[in-house]
Amino acid sequence: MKATCWYGKHDVRVEEVPDPKILNARDAILRITSTAICGSDLHLYNGFVPGMMEGDILGHEFMGEVVEVGSEVKNLKVGDRVVNPFPISCGQCFFCQETLFSLCENSNPNAALAEKMWGHSPAGLFGYTHLLGGYAGGQAEYARVPFADVGPIKIPEGIPDEQVLFLSDVLPTGYMAAENCNIRPGDTIAVWGCGPVGQFAIVSAYLLGASRVIAIDRFPERLQMAREHGFAETLNYESVDVRESLLEMTGGRGPDAVIDAVGMEAHAPGMLGAYDKVKQAVRLESDRPIALRQAIMSCRNGGTVSVPGVYGGLLDKVPFGSIMNRALTVKTGQTHVQRYLGPLLDRIQNGELDPSFIITHQMPLEEAAAGYDMFLKKANDCVKVVLKPGEQQRKRSTSEAGVVLH
Ligand code: NAD
Ligand code: ZN
Ligand code: ZN
Repeated sequence: MKATCWYGKHDVRVEEVPDPKILNARDAILRITSTAICGSDLHLYNGFVPGMMEGDILGHEFMGEVVEVGSEVKNLKVGDRVVNPFPISCGQCFFCQETLFSLCENSNPNAALAEKMWGHSPAGLFGYTHLLGGYAGGQAEYARVPFADVGPIKIPEGIPDEQVLFLSDVLPTGYMAAENCNIRPGDTIAVWGCGPVGQFAIVSAYLLGASRVIAIDRFPERLQMAREHGFAETLNYESVDVRESLLEMTGGRGPDAVIDAVGMEAHAPGMLGAYDKVKQAVRLESDRPIALRQAIMSCRNGGTVSVPGVYGGLLDKVPFGSIMNRALTVKTGQTHVQRYLGPLLDRIQNGELDPSFIITHQMPLEEAAAGYDMFLKKANDCVKVVLKPGEQQRKRSTSEAGVVLH
């Protein structure tokens, strides 16, 4: 099959690799119909996540058709159309029972590596470093899904891929980020980052009762999307002082909760930005927490700092004193996607949500390298790239058919 493989910094290649096979009784094999590139994939693409090996198959946002099931998978059958959540979760351990699916203690065979870095290991993830299991991802024609009796959700006929694909990650991620804010009616929420995660955090904050959402980024098309689809007020951090503007907009008090939907690779202007860049380059700091620092310092006293943005390791100059003295609550984590699949599918089906608005580009799987490059540079107003396996072949056969018919 064809798959998108990682070869190093800014080097991904679509290559022929062996088809996946059922390895365990609870596995299923999916034929992928749609898969997307995530902001988290950019951390791999930029070489900031340790534990990648040449040839690793990327991708953790994917959906498709079940083509084979292991003997213990009773809830799925060949031909079912499913969306797959990005954490790999057994459904039976302490954490899965608590619905903390991204912390499953049975799905990371390389837990010892993660324990060295973080003290304990979270769940294994699709296509996301050997630190988190080294599982093949889904930016490919086929994928093996372990614990297929727990993860994938069946999609009823009639809903196009574009509306449900993001159940795999960025929709629940934005939703959990908003849920973590403990929103009460009347609250004002500030969201750093207007990428896919930020866009869904904005929409979710309103669904959960916020009165006002203020979104922060620098790309005009992303800010425009936040205004038009999310009904957010927006701030361009290159033209205003974000903390001061937020104070002004909230009567001097600050937003009730803040969401960092930027993560470890924040664009970093100014002195502190230069500091992070240098320290990250010489590997004295693993992440650039510009947005996180700003979010903490802007949040009102007693408020919540929700962090869906991914961080890898050790962060400098994070104002913990501000968190302690002002009684802030910090909530974060890889998303417990399985917990949100059913409720969010319901919201899509009843018309409350149409997540397809974030898609700016669709391309054949074979063009994944160009897709990564464009999404990294935010070129062509790119907000989200969906890759379609089989598309190139379909195009070719249609044009060949055209030739024959002639
Ligand atoms: P993205 O790269 O499309 O979006 C990031 C946005 O942040 C960009 O629009 C960028 O312009 C903006 N930004 C950069 N620096 C900023 C700054 N200093 N202030 C304000 N905005 C700034 O990525 P995405 O797909 O939306 O993902 C966002 C983050 O969420 C990433 O770190 C990703 O790894 C993480 N993520 C986490 C989970 C999870 O389970 N917790 C799931 C998916 C993605
Ligand atoms: Zn993701
Ligand atoms: Zn588990």
